Amino acid sequence: MDRTVLHCDCNSFFASVETVFNPSYANVPMAVCGSSEERHGIVLAKNELAKRFGIKTGEVIWQAKKKCPSLVIAQPHYREYEQFSRRIGEIFYKYTDLIEPFGIDESWLDVTASKNLFGDGKQIADSLRERIHREVGITVSVGVSFNKVFAKLGSDYKKPDATTVISRENFKDIVYPLPVSALLFAGRSTTARLNRIGIKTVGDVALAGRKAMSDALGKNGATLYDYATGAECSPVTPVNTEREIKSVGNGMTFRRDLVGIDDIRAAVWALADTVSSRMRSYGVMCGTVAVSVRDTNLNTVSRQRKLRNPTCFCKDIASVSVDIIRELTDISKPIRSLTVTGMDICKADTVGVQQSFFTDESTRREKNEKLETAIDRIRARFGGEAVTRASSVNSGLGI
Ligand SMILES: [Mg+2]
Repeated sequence: MDRTVLHCDCNSFFASVETVFNPSYANVPMAVCGSSEERHGIVLAKNELAKRFGIKTGEVIWQAKKKCPSLVIAQPHYREYEQFSRRIGEIFYKYTDLIEPFGIDESWLDVTASKNLFGDGKQIADSLRERIHREVGITVSVGVSFNKVFAKLGSDYKKPDATTVISRENFKDIVYPLPVSALLFAGRSTTARLNRIGIKTVGDVALAGRKAMSDALGKNGATLYDYATGAECSPVTPVNTEREIKSVGNGMTFRRDLVGIDDIRAAVWALADTVSSRMRSYGVMCGTVAVSVRDTNLNTVSRQRKLRNPTCFCKDIASVSVDIIRELTDISKPIRSLTVTGMDICKADTVGVQQSFFTDESTRREKNEKLETAIDRIRARFGGEAVTRASSVNSGLGI
């Protein structure tokens, strides 16, 4: 028996969440962008009205403004996006526990076993869309099919707020005329290579046959052939946080280059701050810290270090990161950008943190942990900017 797989994609996710908090955004072209003062402020998401001006995700703000001078720029609020994502996930769980997230705003759902309770795939899709709109305030597009690839293609097919069913009966009519790039993982270079040999549509892939496709692209070619012909049959695999989160990192190109240890400290603390608070919100710790440093000639060097004890606290991550940078580079030379990543992720409640009570070290540690947890609570109530480290104020670094 065929499975029934749904792919749910939140429409303009960041922009939609911002509009829930600020409904006036619904009536103007709006884009969520990285800070407009930063050197590399780019469009992270845009609403439908902004789309009509041809504004694209990933383009820099001044380019977007040229296309649409009245474009309203909104700042991103990642904590809210994570929260909305979780609330939508809870609604999914009312229909099935076979849920595979794909990024923050997309998920596959296997609802094969839920059909007796909730109706066929299209009925479940429609009821999910209605419910998410009513309870969370944003719209989703849903693809319904017998495999993951076609379900994903279905959610892309009609947006916003739509259900597309791709069945064994209609898939050739719907899928074959689409460009190759509509297939999952057919990126720009694969698409370009296929176009050069005359393969432009999904139907062309099917027509070329498995052998010609693998001659052209190796294993990936055969996979694309399976995708195009509906032979893809991977299961919807629920992921638990432990397996899902492999690392938590944050990197930044600063408004001006970092020069000297004070700049480096301010930047590292700002990065470690977001990395550690994200780990705490996921309930995980890291056992290794990795740092990469890019200089003004765009050369990048990286190094990682295993920690004595796993941590989810800014102070630990920042001090190791500063040590790594000191060893890795000549700190008198200007730095263009920095990335701090926590790796070897483990669940916070499974870690036996070595507590040696009554020592200065453990008291200091406890104090610091209390402080950082208090900061989390304040930020949860008043927003991410409510508490800022003194070192990053007036640093001119845009952090
Ligand atoms: Mg989306």
